[in-house]
Amino acid sequence: MNRDERTRVLQISAEIFPVLKTGGLADVCGALPDALARSGCDARVLLPGFPAVLAALTRGRELASFSLPWGEQAVLRCGHLAGVACGRGSVTAYVVDAPGLFDRPGNPYLDDQRRPYADNHRRFAALAWGGARLAAGIDPQWAPAVVHAHDWHAALAPALLKLWGPAAQRGVASVYTVHNLAYQGIFDSLHLRELGLPDQAFQMEGVEFHGRISYMKAGLHYADHITTVSPTYAREIQTEEQGCGLDGLLRSRRDHLTGVLNGLDPKVWNPAADAAIASSYDVESMQGKARCKLALQRELGLERAARAPLFVMVSRLAEQKGVNLLLDVVPEILRQGGQLAVLGSGDPELEHGLQREAKAHPGRVAVVLGYDEALAHRMFAGGDVTLVPSRYEPCGLTQMYGLRYASLPLVHAVGGLADTVVDTDLATLEDQTATGWSFREFTAPALRHAVRRAFALHRRPRDWAQVRQTAMGQRFDWEQAGKTYVSLYNRLLAHE
Ligand code: ADP
Repeated sequence: MNRDERTRVLQISAEIFPVLKTGGLADVCGALPDALARSGCDARVLLPGFPAVLAALTRGRELASFSLPWGEQAVLRCGHLAGVACGRGSVTAYVVDAPGLFDRPGNPYLDDQRRPYADNHRRFAALAWGGARLAAGIDPQWAPAVVHAHDWHAALAPALLKLWGPAAQRGVASVYTVHNLAYQGIFDSLHLRELGLPDQAFQMEGVEFHGRISYMKAGLHYADHITTVSPTYAREIQTEEQGCGLDGLLRSRRDHLTGVLNGLDPKVWNPAADAAIASSYDVESMQGKARCKLALQRELGLERAARAPLFVMVSRLAEQKGVNLLLDVVPEILRQGGQLAVLGSGDPELEHGLQREAKAHPGRVAVVLGYDEALAHRMFAGGDVTLVPSRYEPCGLTQMYGLRYASLPLVHAVGGLADTVVDTDLATLEDQTATGWSFREFTAPALRHAVRRAFALHRRPRDWAQVRQTAMGQRFDWEQAGKTYVSLYNRLLAHE
């Protein structure tokens, strides 16, 4: 295909792996450019000028400067983003450089007291305005045919493409992907004009949400098409129970809403070629996994017990992730001779709860508070069971890593967890489709019962080995997701 015929897509997000990551959003946005390129797109990305992003920008040049609606100046830089693949090279990235907004160390959204920055409305409006400027042709060499915005941080972009004349004239198509409906970006209505939104946008059929401005709603209302990260979550968010107050809008847009399951990047997550783990292994030779387990037990100060089932969890420590349920079933894990290792950070109360367990059960429960990418790999490689008891889970990635690394996922059957894990029972054992365990009720007894079933399988080594084999054979790669997005873009462009 001629370079110029490829669909030009601008992906807008606040995070991108491996440059800046607080969760799954970064993994997805880091893998998508290459997946899109392989499916015939000319994909570029737009990011806020956080210190980590500017540091990763190579061959960066100043493209243009522009005024934000509240008077601040921003510079749009363009370069390549080291470490983010796209076709044969690294992805071309645009960066909104506005030091007054983004030059802050640490978490991209929260201050050092873990409170959202008071000017987050401006920070992420600046990102969206960068997208609108690109759509309107600020780069004479390249303008997108499709803008693909991710989560509330980028969600004003689809609105500006419809509401701001210079962008609206270009007829650029927009796709908005919801990675988590619960994080909405809600701000005081006083900011409307300052953000450059016209008064008519502040209504039910617009960005207004209970008297305030909702960035999430802007994305959901104005985007030409909405996607979310698993088919089950796409259905769940249309219900009152999981719709976070937006289920009516989502139902009204159901013909423009698609669930596209995230993939796993095999260049990053592959136990046969993973520099972070103690010993490589694959489905044909699993001895390396046993070595990884012993190495992890040593690293975390757990008893070196090859036969004790090791339950691992790598997660943001938020109520959503079911940490309270897990705390309730620690006694069951220990009673049956298991071990527990948790890597995570977040809610101080949950952190303390986990630390209490580690203190009470040295050698059997280990908790590492913080964020450690390499240790996450060693946890999946060393674990026997990966816990994902989330109350809700749009897609979830750690269960996929657990499958790939034969650390069998034990999950609450919701969202992407329901779409990726096959519960073990006699029938799924017999037809060799079982890959883990899932429980339906979000209660401690239900989780406890699933944990008991995991121990029961562990006592049957042949069945355990078979489930591991099936798990490792699952393929959730980006190729399929990339193709789905590209056919969606092309459909939108054909309908213009
Ligand atoms: P979410 O995006 O809701 O946090 P996902 O399961 O979609 O959940 O993605 C979480 C990603 O963040 C995974 O790649 C997981 O390995 C990673 N992760 C979460 N917490 C940590 C941590 N403390 N250290 C390293 N990686 C982590």
